[in-house]
Amino acid sequence: MSLRIVVCVKYVPDATGDRHFAEDLTTDREAVDGLLSELDEYAVEQALRIAEDADDAEVTVVTVGPEDATDALRKALSMGADKGVHVEDDDLHGTDVIGTSLVLAKAIEKTGYDLVVCGMASTDGGMGVLPAILAERLGVPQVTFLTEVSVADGTVSGRREGDAATEQVEAALPAVVSVTDRSGEARYPSFKGIMAAKKKPVETLDLEDLELEAEQVGLEGAFTKVLSATERPARTAGEIVTDEGEGAKLLAAFLAERKFI
Ligand SMILES: Cc1cc2nc3c(=O)[nH]c(=O)nc-3n(C[C@H](O)[C@H](O)[C@H](O)COP(=O)(O)OP(=O)(O)OC[C@H]3O[C@@H](n4cnc5c(N)ncnc54)[C@H](O)[C@@H]3O)c2cc1C
Repeated sequence: MSLRIVVCVKYVPDATGDRHFAEDLTTDREAVDGLLSELDEYAVEQALRIAEDADDAEVTVVTVGPEDATDALRKALSMGADKGVHVEDDDLHGTDVIGTSLVLAKAIEKTGYDLVVCGMASTDGGMGVLPAILAERLGVPQVTFLTEVSVADGTVSGRREGDAATEQVEAALPAVVSVTDRSGEARYPSFKGIMAAKKKPVETLDLEDLELEAEQVGLEGAFTKVLSATERPARTAGEIVTDEGEGAKLLAAFLAERKFI
């Protein structure tokens, strides 16, 4: 039977752009272009490698996000994924990680899966907890922060590199894994891949399709609330220390004053 791999991909504001908060203190997504979170490219890459090693496998990419989030799906499809699922609903505005995991769990259950592959964190939210919450919601094991991942005989195995030790871990499928940016260079989409991606199917779902109520997501359903946000002050010119014999002393005083030493 075909190995059904689902990859969670997030559409995030471009970190090189000028990012701001909107009036309701959510991220102002109109102000800056978005793209597929760079860390999710590693997840797509690992899913494609697992699929290539399997006799028969299908890779579905899933995103929860606004209309433009299809850009993230198309990028993943151009890398080689087979189909996409886009959960889009106006009521999702301001959803936190708890709500996002609920929506993803419903969408993934509807799609069907043997293995879910996530990135290690999002480049905008950066909580790194979604894969674990998702596994709990799906009621399946999770092995997170893998630098190496493979599937054989109904088991997913991988390596987890910590500060003090390296662990070899495994879990029976179905399972959720997350992979780090050290899991292997993500491939660039080829011209052929980009053209093929335009024709690949993308299913759009809303909250009703997933039997979810508006109050379970969005700002209303969020467990966390941003109370205030202060823009980072503009950078000021640095202080130039001219060494006239006292350079090291002045530098040490400068660092000590800022508690760096
Ligand atoms: C439509 C929408 C609008 C939102 N608006 C805001 C906002 O304005 N301000 C704000 O602070 N938060 C917003 N959020 C919530 C925020 O994006 C969530 O906290 C986030 O989706 C999960 O947390 P994280 O990004 O830190 O995940 P992490 O735990 O860091 O992510 C790990 C992995 O989970 C997967 N993943 C995470 N999110 C998604 C997703 N949405 N779709 C598919 N895969 C995903 C990716 O594989 C990612 O690499 C919004 C969410 C949605 C769905």
